[in-house]
Amino acid sequence: MGKKLTSRSEDYSKWYNELVVRADLAENSAVRGCMVIKPYGYAIWEKMQAELDRMFKETGHQNAYFPLFVPKSLFEAEEKNAEGFAKECAVVTHYRLMNDEDNPGKLKVDPNAKLEEELVVRPTSEAIIWNTYKNWIQSYRDLPIKINQWANVVRWEMRTRLFLRTAEFLWQEGHTAHATKAEALEETELMNNIYAEFAENFMAIPVIKGAKTENERFAGALETYCIEALMQDGKALQAGTSHFLGQNFAKAFDVKYATKEGGLEHVWATSWGVSTRLMGALIMTHSDDHGLVLPPKLAPTQVVIVPIYKGEEQLAQISEVADELVKDLRAAGVSVKFDNNDNQKPGWKFAQYELQGVPLRIAIGPKDLEKGTVELARRDTLSKEFVNRDEVVGKIPALLNEIQETLYTKAKNFRDTHITEVETFDEFKKQLKDKGGFISAHWDGSPETENKIKELTKATIRCIPFDRKEETGKCVLTGNPSEGRVLFAKAY
Ligand code: AMP
Repeated sequence: MGKKLTSRSEDYSKWYNELVVRADLAENSAVRGCMVIKPYGYAIWEKMQAELDRMFKETGHQNAYFPLFVPKSLFEAEEKNAEGFAKECAVVTHYRLMNDEDNPGKLKVDPNAKLEEELVVRPTSEAIIWNTYKNWIQSYRDLPIKINQWANVVRWEMRTRLFLRTAEFLWQEGHTAHATKAEALEETELMNNIYAEFAENFMAIPVIKGAKTENERFAGALETYCIEALMQDGKALQAGTSHFLGQNFAKAFDVKYATKEGGLEHVWATSWGVSTRLMGALIMTHSDDHGLVLPPKLAPTQVVIVPIYKGEEQLAQISEVADELVKDLRAAGVSVKFDNNDNQKPGWKFAQYELQGVPLRIAIGPKDLEKGTVELARRDTLSKEFVNRDEVVGKIPALLNEIQETLYTKAKNFRDTHITEVETFDEFKKQLKDKGGFISAHWDGSPETENKIKELTKATIRCIPFDRKEETGKCVLTGNPSEGRVLFAKAY
């Protein structure tokens, strides 16, 4: 059996890194900051994708694909966006290698194969997409356009961590074009709501919906809406963003449409995205010192059956029962695996499935055969019970739902007890240090104050919550008038 994971209380960050690798989710690669997503991790990501994709299509979006490379001149067109991402861009300058005569067996960049125009590897695709929309949009009849793409992007991040922040990451990016400002704003809000619904109903992660401050806004956006989650170590994580881009990209790429009334107007835009960072959110919200804990709706295997036997004859008898259970559980829509691998002992298998967060485990031994029972164990509570064999299939779907809800409730209780209202800056610093979590405080609305607080405490404004109560007050740092409380936190 492998050795125990570092505990969360001992070293949270070490716990996370160990868990990701030991649960077989992902590993570092030969490329700095870029990860290999392993089959088990990828299977969870695929479940997320499938659900999100369904939700996008249900709300009238279609998938398409745009190039990985963005010619530098197009990238530069929307100045704020270009400036915001410039420092993180990987750039292709050449298109060919050649033999290096001075170093036999080695290759070098062919100096004669310099690109006339450099290509930026997309950090986000507004530029290439709006340059395309220009050709697609002439009149109001061409609108709205509601497109999503599943892709990889590259942002040359300096400090990377598996899933949470990588130099290359997988994501989806929605890019929509609308005739009116109101419609674009409505779309921005709709997609933020879809992200929140997905996080809460599927990932069992409670999130706070709100708007970003100017400092934290997406480069080139007029508004950024977001969902913010709280991890078990008291740090916040931006789990998804939805941007209202105004007419910035339409103006940069000269995208106009003929109105019904015969006028000519710039098009309104939105973009929105979630990434493989969601895997990090999922891990950090629910998992414990034994390993991954998965909400049943995202678990690639919801139930695992482990036989406990000596000799082939016992295995054959147990297999008969197990095969029947597999068939009946599948018919009930449950994903189930019978692990009859003879190379590993049951104890090893128990630990492994615990590490990988399989929500339910059924163990069947010779005694169970005699009594007509099975042992049913829950991953979330680590509780076990004996259940009659003919009742187990009927019990499991409801139990999976219960686990899903228990995980959400537990995470929500944690989150709710980690939102602290403070009135003074001393209290702010004390709470942030002692307890972490979200600090709800008054802020005077200025970027300078926000920067100063960040400098002093490392906490940033995570969002201006949409559902904040109406309450004016005094800024926690400057004492200047404040229009309402915002949420501060240290963040991933
Ligand atoms: P943005 O385009 O900056 O609004 O980001 C879209 C989504 O990708 C957000 O949910 C971000 O939290 C996430 N994201 C941004 N940078 C990274 C990164 N380096 N690795 C993983 N996810 C990221």
